[in-house]
Amino acid sequence: MDSFDPAQVVVRQGHFIGGEYVDEGAGRIDVARPSDGVIYASVPRADAALVDRAVDNAWQAFRTSGWAHMAPRERARILRRFADLVAADVATLAPLEALGSTRPVRDAAAWDVPFTAEGIRFYAEFADKIGGDVLATDHDHLGMTIAEPIGVIGAIAPWNFPLVMASWKIAPALAAGNAVVLKPSEMTPFSVLRLAELAIAAGVPPGIFNVVQGDGRTTGDALVRHPRIGKVTFTGSTSTGAAIMAACAETGTKPVTLELGGKSPQIVFADAPRLADVAARIAGAITGNAGQVCVAGSRLLVERSIADELAGRIQQVFAGLRAGPTWAPGTTLPPIISDPQAARIDAIVQRTVASGARLCCGGSRVDGATPGAFYAPTMLTGVTPESEAVRAEIFGPVLTLQTFDTEDEALELARHPDYGLAAGVHTADLGRALRFVRGIEAGTVWVNRYGRTSDFMIPTGGYKRSGIGKDLGRQAYEANLRFKSVLIDMRV
Ligand code: NAD
Repeated sequence: MDSFDPAQVVVRQGHFIGGEYVDEGAGRIDVARPSDGVIYASVPRADAALVDRAVDNAWQAFRTSGWAHMAPRERARILRRFADLVAADVATLAPLEALGSTRPVRDAAAWDVPFTAEGIRFYAEFADKIGGDVLATDHDHLGMTIAEPIGVIGAIAPWNFPLVMASWKIAPALAAGNAVVLKPSEMTPFSVLRLAELAIAAGVPPGIFNVVQGDGRTTGDALVRHPRIGKVTFTGSTSTGAAIMAACAETGTKPVTLELGGKSPQIVFADAPRLADVAARIAGAITGNAGQVCVAGSRLLVERSIADELAGRIQQVFAGLRAGPTWAPGTTLPPIISDPQAARIDAIVQRTVASGARLCCGGSRVDGATPGAFYAPTMLTGVTPESEAVRAEIFGPVLTLQTFDTEDEALELARHPDYGLAAGVHTADLGRALRFVRGIEAGTVWVNRYGRTSDFMIPTGGYKRSGIGKDLGRQAYEANLRFKSVLIDMRV
């Protein structure tokens, strides 16, 4: 699928509570298409009373629907069916995802939807694999840990990959036997409603997977503060993550998983094999989804002797990208999520230039592509570690380039004072690659590649202000359980 007619996409609006659509709330929020700025729908804003209804519904379903106590194999069977339904629904889900987000429909159909289905399938297979342990004790006692679901999980998702980010939250939570109340971003609220419908169709009991709509300040805040929420799992910006952590601390020391922002370095040594491939990788890591990716490789650190050649090759790749709406065939540079966000990107670029940086390419909006907010792939040189474009998470297609002469210098430049989400090292020298794997403070280090594969066992998460805990892997499953210790005196 590489195109669709936006006028033909059917959008269901509302919250999804107890297996049904609910269209009530404290006012409505208009929702615009990033590709052309057209307001195409609205969502009701859930206030605290409506959030309470959703959480109460989830709590009742958790206690009475049988989901939490179901034979784990049966829960796995239902979740596998859920994954099958998602994969088979690509003709509906992909245009729905592309319509309201920055995901070109070709990518949504080839990656977002299948990846969402596979993530659900992956966690279905965990359902009967982790139950606890029998532990070493003296001979008169039997010591165990028993894995139990937590209860109701509050999940909050960002707008950049609406389906995939939501699935990373809901799949491990459901597989572990919890109920979920998910709040998508108010900018991309619709595709996850279809996900919730499909969960119910697969046999997940009504009330186990709920969606509430609204902004962060009203709906998100009410959700994380609700006393019946047992854990909060969040993906979004570092500042929001900090506010959520504080709210969780104030309202019951709830555990949190926080997947936050990044400013990830890509380090290229002169011996890196096949420079043309490296250039394509670097360019892809900052222009994929127009740079609106938490692990975007936004800081290029390159050995001085090859800096000019690599910069030239990257600019060639940039020049070949085609801006266009998510529904047009051949779009390789999708829109920025909103006009204010494009203005913010531009302001950071202009301020960095004003402070002495040199603009190699880009540095402005793409003229005339469509009425949407498109930003040209941009490269800045002559920057320092203090430059705003080097420090700030820009969340757009803006690459800074810094050069180095020695490994120590590269490692020093790679270090960011706040973020530690991901990094890439490109070199033919295995020992050097491993020194960087050890030396870089980041939750993920890629060597001679950039970006994840479909290996769901590899967890993702940040160091420092990039987050707490992991999505994916065994870790995300275990983070949706709590472990009860049991000690039995066998002499009685
Ligand atoms: P955001 O923090 O503005 O919003 C994220 C979600 O939080 C939205 O649903 C929003 O409505 C909600 N929210 C906002 N304020 C809230 C509050 N006070 N209480 C509860 N909920 C609240 O982030 P965004 O702009 O949607 O997403 C972009 C950010 O997400 C970037 O910083 C990016 O790096 C990060 N991100 C991180 C990862 C990761 O895995 N580390 C993945 C994707 C995106």
